[in-house]
Amino acid sequence: MRHKILFIFPKWPTKALWGYLQYKFPPLGLLTIAGITPPEYEVEFLDENTGTIDFDNDADLIAISVMTPLAVRAYEIGDLFRARGKKVVMGGIHVSCYPEEAEHHSNAVVVGEAENIWPKVLEDFARGRLQKRYTETSLIDMSQDYPLPRRDLLAKRRYLTRSTIQMVRGCPFDCEFCSVTAFSGRRFRHRPIDHFIEEYNNLPDRFVFIVDDNILSNRRLASELFDRMRGTRKWWGSQVTISIADNSTILKKMAACGCKSLFIGFESLNQENLAQMGKKFVRPSKNMDRIKRIQDHGIGILGSFIVGLDNDKTSVFDDLYEFIIGTRLEAFLISVLTPFPGTHLTRRMEQEGRILTKDWQQYDMSTVVHQPRNFSPEFLQESYDELNVSLYSLSSIARRTIKPRKNTLIFLPQNFGFRKAWHRLLAARADERETTVPTREHT
Ligand code: SF4
Repeated sequence: MRHKILFIFPKWPTKALWGYLQYKFPPLGLLTIAGITPPEYEVEFLDENTGTIDFDNDADLIAISVMTPLAVRAYEIGDLFRARGKKVVMGGIHVSCYPEEAEHHSNAVVVGEAENIWPKVLEDFARGRLQKRYTETSLIDMSQDYPLPRRDLLAKRRYLTRSTIQMVRGCPFDCEFCSVTAFSGRRFRHRPIDHFIEEYNNLPDRFVFIVDDNILSNRRLASELFDRMRGTRKWWGSQVTISIADNSTILKKMAACGCKSLFIGFESLNQENLAQMGKKFVRPSKNMDRIKRIQDHGIGILGSFIVGLDNDKTSVFDDLYEFIIGTRLEAFLISVLTPFPGTHLTRRMEQEGRILTKDWQQYDMSTVVHQPRNFSPEFLQESYDELNVSLYSLSSIARRTIKPRKNTLIFLPQNFGFRKAWHRLLAARADERETTVPTREHT
């Protein structure tokens, strides 16, 4: 008998910013597991952020990927399918941190990187011997085992780009708030360049996002990679540390092979905050020069920041506003400090008794879930919302994105997408709390 597996990525909670963005980001991890599923299985994929689940689907096995803010919905989905007699398996970072929690809503959970153990899960399922928990302690050898994701399963025109791709996993820096090191390991693991280039050249979209946490983890390899990426006419973005600005040779190579956008974690403008989180290599005093050097190569920056850190004072919101406008950052992502499972931050916050809720739906990075040190949670939430509305004013968007560079075509729609999402999110919150939407407009 041919079994059918339905892979599900649950929808974002209704009060999360990411739920209001029109264009979504494909769940590459789940598509990769679909990619290693043997051909004797029929495979279907449903991203609930772009479509609706049919709970009468004829699949025999439901495989759900669980991130923390999506956990409540993932558990609802698991319960509904199990009530219809389906087998449910869950995996992902949240489940790996809280397998006992997920076990209440599934028939099996996968702890750790799923690629190596997925064939065993399927074998047990086919024999009717699914175990409650599968723990994988090893990490895949990216130089040998990296499977190709099933992008063909994605709905067309619902994603910012369907062309997400990975070259590297892992990170040695182990920043306090981040779960990458705990989940993906302290060592960078690279794919062979040939393997990556073959996949890259066959991607269906002109704009590609390389999801690596640091595409420059190995400068020699990156340099060769960028040489090989030339001449494809693709545009691409990825994530790096700000120290890339100090290497003009690499910057030139990146620009020459189509790099248009870099996601850079500045996190804070306060050196004490950076020291506390273990990100001392970001030097606020050098930020302005470094940003300009990158922008001068025609590469736009999506700067990532966190508010609610222990050394933040009430001035942090105005400081961030001035910095983002002053540096003309093409895009930004400001998150509220969030103690995600598996992080050092969570352990410290638990010891200090500062976690306000474990309602995972609120762990969307735009809702305050911890007790800040220097102000109230309410002040943090209101100031955070107001800062975002101010930074997505029309004058701010125009100043930051309209430049004599082609990447305006990337950043202008992105900013308008976030502007719309923010207004819809705050309207939804206002409806619920019967409060008013912040109105301060910087010019
Ligand atoms: S925040 Fe970035 S540099 Fe720090 S551990 Fe996470 S991936 Fe590594």
